[in-house]
Amino acid sequence: MKASKMLIATLKEAPNEAQISSHILLIRAGMIRKLVAGVYNYLPLGLRTLNKIEKVIREEMDNAGALEILSSAVQPKELWVESGRWEKYGPELMRFTDRHEREFCLGPTHEEIFTDLVRTEVKSKKNLPLCIYQIQTKYRDELRPRFGLMRGREFIMKDAYSFDLDEKGLDESYQTMYKAYDNVFTRLGLNYQVVLADTGAIGGSGSHQFMALSEIGESDIIYCDCGYAADIEKADSLVDKYRTDEEEKELTVVDTPHAKTIEEISEFLKVTPKDVLKTVVYFNEVTKEPVVVVVRGDRTINEIKVINALNIAEHEIRLATEEEIKAMGSAAGFVSPVGLKVTTLVDEEASLLKNGVAGANKSDRHIMNVNYGRDYQGIVKNFRNAENNDLCPVCGKPLKVEKGIEVGQIFKLGTKYSEPMACTYQTDNGQNVPMVMGCYGIGVTRTMSSIIEQYHDEFGIKWPLNVAPYHAVVVPINYKDETMKEVAENIYEQLKANKVEVILDDRDERPGFKFKDWELIGIPYIIVVGRRAGEGICEFKVRQTMEKTEIEINNAIEIVTNAVKEIK
Ligand code: ATP
Ligand code: MG
Repeated sequence: MKASKMLIATLKEAPNEAQISSHILLIRAGMIRKLVAGVYNYLPLGLRTLNKIEKVIREEMDNAGALEILSSAVQPKELWVESGRWEKYGPELMRFTDRHEREFCLGPTHEEIFTDLVRTEVKSKKNLPLCIYQIQTKYRDELRPRFGLMRGREFIMKDAYSFDLDEKGLDESYQTMYKAYDNVFTRLGLNYQVVLADTGAIGGSGSHQFMALSEIGESDIIYCDCGYAADIEKADSLVDKYRTDEEEKELTVVDTPHAKTIEEISEFLKVTPKDVLKTVVYFNEVTKEPVVVVVRGDRTINEIKVINALNIAEHEIRLATEEEIKAMGSAAGFVSPVGLKVTTLVDEEASLLKNGVAGANKSDRHIMNVNYGRDYQGIVKNFRNAENNDLCPVCGKPLKVEKGIEVGQIFKLGTKYSEPMACTYQTDNGQNVPMVMGCYGIGVTRTMSSIIEQYHDEFGIKWPLNVAPYHAVVVPINYKDETMKEVAENIYEQLKANKVEVILDDRDERPGFKFKDWELIGIPYIIVVGRRAGEGICEFKVRQTMEKTEIEINNAIEIVTNAVKEIK
């Protein structure tokens, strides 16, 4: 491709709203342009890379025996009612009504559609197991679309769904996909970790997330050298047995004027946050009742564990207002589980703590020596976030924390969709049994951003060769110089003949200007044709390392050709 014929939309600066490297570089390199918040146009260079990422994913899905289909983003309400998610999904679901008052949504995911497809098309158990997938556009009205392609309102996902005869079959399908995901992210050059995950609104019995490791990741990964790794939402840790074997002392009410926060009360009573029961009041929008959650004062509440215990969705819970706390018979800042008659969830550590400090449900008062069982009751479970240096639930050694970007997630769905939607097969004795399902997603556009997060420097993007928009660029220092022009064109033609995706920079611009563009865009090999062109010598620059060497032109052609041949 001749540079003069390309749409090279590089920019010196990205708009202020672009905060992370991948967002800034995607815009500056002219790969994407914002249309509205969370919705982007993909320009030619960006689309080439996106297509290459999709190609890797397609190959691995096909190798794993999955069959590609393509369904619509438009989904009828009826199917979502059948699965029970029309109510449950909340405001992220983009809903609309057609001219006949029929309701639809733009698919944020496709469980309902694929389940419906298989229940109508697959009649015999001979067709099972079956795994089908698509690479298609999804819509989610994210509360805060941000970070460019990382969290869009429109994004591209590869979603696959497996249908098996039984749990054993599902285990096999799940393992096959797990392996395919490993292959995809390895081939894309990502430094990633697989973690145990919560199953969230999609539901089901088991799940893993594939996390690209990055400082800007929005997920906390809790991991241990023994191999245990989980998303913070799911992570477990051993109970810290702090003050668990003291004699239970008598309840004492004390005046604590204006001491509301854990820090204030700890300082006032000369105790540590660990000695205090942190009591937070939520409001369950489904039952329209307050819910009290108790963790030790040094801990934070894991809201996913809370909503899972209540069997509700994330948008169905919120913090209670001061009025609601008052109506419950308490006072904001001085809430305690003692004497309240509301649903109470108690973290294991809080339940074991002897003689803790709690609010008195009255302003400016606290109670000392509060003990679970004797003074209050509730549902005891793990409701805390695991933290750095907590002990590993598998081996007991200290856990560590790291940030990751969720690029993919796989779920064992079981019969969560096949049962309510009657996606069944007939057994030999004529019984209709629901198929056992799995679902498997990769955020394709998010993966593109994640690669940039891991492959960039102060000059721009350093694309791995297999996903770079082009493999190489030939840059004559001065295209008006006859020798340089001829030599550059010659290299360009030879590389093209060798199946290298190559650009000839025939623009009438200063060399520095041209180099900046290619370094920003991240073309892996830059062949500079300059003064020594006549002697058969060029300057050969490798983008990953920014290493520059003067080598023979033939040698440069050979290096690039061989590297391209080896792309997997
Ligand atoms: P998150 O927790 O980041 O909101 P999710 O768990 O809701 O993501 P899934 O339903 O598991 O997402 O979707 C499969 C994949 O699609 C995710 O692993 C992620 O890579 C990608 N993805 C999800 N939401 C977005 C989005 N708003 N923009 C871009 N990619 C997304
Ligand atoms: Mg997910």
